[in-house]
Amino acid sequence: MTTSPLYTIVRNALVLLPGKAQAEPVDLLLEGDTIREIGPQGMSAPADATVVDAAGKLVHAGLINAHTHGHGALAKAMGDRWTLELLLAAGPWISGNRSLEDKYLSATLNGAEMVLKGTTACYDLFFEVPAPSVEGMSAIAQAYQDVGMRATIAPMVADKTLYEAIPGLYDALPEALRSAVDRFRMQPYAETLKGFEAFVTQTRIDSERLKIALAPTIPLHCSDEFLGACRDCARRFGLGLHSHVSESKIQALSGVKRYGRTLTAHLDKLGLLGPDFTVAHGVWLDPDDMRILAGHGASVAHNPASNMRLGSGLADLRAMLDAGVNVAIGTDGSNSGDNQNMYEATRLASFVSKVRGPDMHQWLTTPEALHAATEGGARALGFQGKIGRIEAGYKADLVFVDLGHINWLPHNRTVNQIVHVEDGTAVRDVMIGGRFVVKEGRLLTIDLAKLARQAEAARERLEAVNAPMKILAEKLQDAVASFCIGLAREPYQVERYGAPLR
Ligand SMILES: [Zn+2]
Repeated sequence: MTTSPLYTIVRNALVLLPGKAQAEPVDLLLEGDTIREIGPQGMSAPADATVVDAAGKLVHAGLINAHTHGHGALAKAMGDRWTLELLLAAGPWISGNRSLEDKYLSATLNGAEMVLKGTTACYDLFFEVPAPSVEGMSAIAQAYQDVGMRATIAPMVADKTLYEAIPGLYDALPEALRSAVDRFRMQPYAETLKGFEAFVTQTRIDSERLKIALAPTIPLHCSDEFLGACRDCARRFGLGLHSHVSESKIQALSGVKRYGRTLTAHLDKLGLLGPDFTVAHGVWLDPDDMRILAGHGASVAHNPASNMRLGSGLADLRAMLDAGVNVAIGTDGSNSGDNQNMYEATRLASFVSKVRGPDMHQWLTTPEALHAATEGGARALGFQGKIGRIEAGYKADLVFVDLGHINWLPHNRTVNQIVHVEDGTAVRDVMIGGRFVVKEGRLLTIDLAKLARQAEAARERLEAVNAPMKILAEKLQDAVASFCIGLAREPYQVERYGAPLR
């Protein structure tokens, strides 16, 4: 790995500066991993500065993926007509029996796709069975370090299965399937955080590049005692918390059934909410939920591709912004959001707001969408004030887009064009902390040919070893689907589906 030279001067680029809709011809002086000065083209620079000639390129701040799952990369495209609950029922098949090498490989694939498509930092909620381990967490951290990107990594933890989480689901299963899912029971929660805490206390990390957080995966999948333990653990070590809250109508309805209040109100009562708390999805948040989250300075990671692909619904970003919630954008894992393309996620965030109604004043603007995909994400990840803007003092996490690419012919309005036109194919170079990780479209940090061989070998092995789980998942699919379709017909205080129920 090469280290950053002391000074770098990026010359001749058009640069999108904070709050601007149009890129401007300025030069960027970088010192090590940091933007030191922004000045007119031709500005003076130290004589020994490395010169990066970015003529014909647009430079914008690296995109920040506020919600992904490293384990999802090896499971991309394994399903089609899955709701969230069907995806969870398929979990032991599509994500089961992963070795330590598989965990590293999947996160590396995830990171490689992100940087190739202009993302420089992510919030990864990865999964280990039965619980996070020092080795597993080290492997995920190593994967992102090897790719060369920043990451906040959060193991997903739970002490209940899907079948215990949704009131009535277990009893609705045929007898034979009930005994089959009994085998998925989680270990008592007191054991679950031991490996996590060992990693946090033993591992020295570069906190400029990597942060640790904790993800009680879905509130309903955690006992109140366990949620309290997660809260205490996060407080003790000063870590972020991230959870899938009101992602689906099934979750929202189940929350009210189980707790007598919304999931957000319940998390508030248990004291989990705060500025370091990120709600993933939040499709079925109601106005009170949004007010509560805003009052705590919490974030929502909006995943429009996944929300549509899993039929979760159309989240109301305008209402979240009006309430004062920090909004970020994520791709979700490739097992539900299908890819790690933040340009696409940002474009869809804009589009989802536009199909919610005829009043265009309520629609997301392209600067709002881009803000969510950069600064909103920085805050959710715990990197606020360090990344997400091209400004002196911020880290040099920069994307260089080829203005000669068909996406930019002609270059009209920069922000509109990044959010609505760019799809990642014009990304030529990506710099993270002053160091190029992608140059001329090539990933410099990872051998992609080797990664391809490893991914195919892992796919083949996992397909064979998880074949019995596939058979079980297919049997469960019908039972889970019919229960959830019935439950989803019950009324809820907000409507997020794309059309009235038939
Ligand atoms: Zn997720």
